[in-house]
Amino acid sequence: MCGIVGYIGNQKASPILINGLIRLEYRGYDSAGISTIEKNELSIMKDKGRVKNLYQLEGIDDLTGTIGIAHTRWATHGKPAKENSHPHLDNSKTFSVVHNGIIENYNELRKFLTEHGYTFYSQTDTEVIPNLVHYYYNKDENSDSLKFLRAVKNACTDLKGSYAIEILCKDYPDNMIVTRKDSPLVIGKGENENYISSDIPAILSFTRNFYLLDDLELAVLERTQVSFYNLDLKPISKDTKTIEWNATSAEKDGYEDFMLKEIYEQPTAIRETIGAKFNEASKCEFDELNFTKDSLSNISKIYIVACGTAMHAGLVGKNAIEKLCKITTEVDVASEFRYRNPLVDSHTLCIFISQSGETADTIAALKLCKEKGAKTLAISNVIGSSITREADYSIYTHAGPEIAVASTKAYTSQVMLIVILAIYFAEILEMDTDLLNTLKKDIMELPAKIEETLKLSENILDFSKKTYQEKDIFFLGRGIDETVAKEGSLKLKEISYIHSESYPAGELKHGPIALIENDITVVSIITDPNLVEKTVSNIQEVITRGAKTLIITNQNLDENMFDLTIRIPETNPFISPILSIIPLQLFSYYISKEKGLDVDKPRNLAKSVTVE
Ligand code: GLU
Repeated sequence: MCGIVGYIGNQKASPILINGLIRLEYRGYDSAGISTIEKNELSIMKDKGRVKNLYQLEGIDDLTGTIGIAHTRWATHGKPAKENSHPHLDNSKTFSVVHNGIIENYNELRKFLTEHGYTFYSQTDTEVIPNLVHYYYNKDENSDSLKFLRAVKNACTDLKGSYAIEILCKDYPDNMIVTRKDSPLVIGKGENENYISSDIPAILSFTRNFYLLDDLELAVLERTQVSFYNLDLKPISKDTKTIEWNATSAEKDGYEDFMLKEIYEQPTAIRETIGAKFNEASKCEFDELNFTKDSLSNISKIYIVACGTAMHAGLVGKNAIEKLCKITTEVDVASEFRYRNPLVDSHTLCIFISQSGETADTIAALKLCKEKGAKTLAISNVIGSSITREADYSIYTHAGPEIAVASTKAYTSQVMLIVILAIYFAEILEMDTDLLNTLKKDIMELPAKIEETLKLSENILDFSKKTYQEKDIFFLGRGIDETVAKEGSLKLKEISYIHSESYPAGELKHGPIALIENDITVVSIITDPNLVEKTVSNIQEVITRGAKTLIITNQNLDENMFDLTIRIPETNPFISPILSIIPLQLFSYYISKEKGLDVDKPRNLAKSVTVE
């Protein structure tokens, strides 16, 4: 949540900052602002709403400063309003700050600073930061080159909560200081210029070389160098990492929306995620993992912990791990898991899934499991992201940057990777070879089948045109199809704002069927051959009560029964969600478009949920 950008170099900073904000806007769009140093004075320009309000502000083109910071906000403290927009200044206008995260003890700090004569002009938690930095700066009687850094460090020591911060000081017009704790921030290294961003794709068009800052580290950026320090102000040395993604992977590339582009990128995302992990004749290999039969036999239970769509990918993973490896696997929502004193010990393997690798709840759950002695494995799409740095093992989806708030290709890639992980475990445990070999063969055929599934979009578009004004839509399925019903329902809620529910089809008669009335839309996924008849009977029950039905299936059903049947290619039930979710992604997308909504930036949501 919230995007921050920074630039120091020899070019005009403001266009670079605004370009970065536009790319980060999916992280929050309550307000946008920039601060640059103009002739040794701090300048601030900001406004409520989208980045376009900012770049339309009078005078923005006159900014000539070559150092600056910028922010696009997802409000946590203080309503979306100009006075709460970042950057925030201290009372003396010496420091300007942008912040991503939550300062949990801001009330206490605000009281302390008020007692010391400071005045607050916003309702944000953030405004304590520039004033606290100023408080320490003022107290420091030295005036050496590290005075600015000392003040930031002292202020950070007092902060509780999460933060990624960029700070400018008008007395140090050639320095920018950044630091972080539990919120993302990367530093892009250029030629006589350096960049800051909340994530890599936003500045990929400027550089592919990045420094990754760890929690509680500080960086001082100058034009030609970046110096790193720990909280004791001891210098740290760091190397850059080169990122393989290319800049066009973060562009719309002719598509109307990022979400549509990302839906159509799924064949490639799956191909890349399968990568060279196996072929039909070889065992599954992960360069990053070194499990043995002994170490796996020692695991009595697996937890898969994640949030939102990633949690739904985890449900598919549970099915594969339990059936292929015979290890009990539980899936939990990170924000619940961490507060329920989970039964985790050294015989537990905890798997954490997060596209961005920065999801605050998931990171907190991971830290808890480590404290309890469990082995931890992270699944992320972003190399070097926080969960991958915390976990004992990390493996990666290769979906490329996902920009749309509603996840599509990251979900299918997560499903793919966790099924491959289950195969890897099952092979080490010497489980049923025939079953595994068939599954591997089916996985190799999957990208082509995704391409085939994407060709079904016309029919879905027609059905969406008939349904976009609905108030409630139900999603039903059994077994693996129920996990897809959950994800389909979430997608629809996220981008169309239509109320939707997902249920195990067999559970309907225990309550929810009371909600079925004439003309209501019911979507059902029917791919598991063992459950077809049972699910069809449940669908018959809703048809009897007047429901309109959309069926996603790879089985031979009597299509006359339903309003629309989307026939997807047949595949192995372990991986069928990768195909059956695609019509539902398109369904949500077309409904959202039909309603004229902003598909990529749905209201109240932001990608990469870095607050708890
Ligand atoms: N807590 C800060 C605010 O509400 C920062 C929120 C963000 O990360 O965008 O302004």
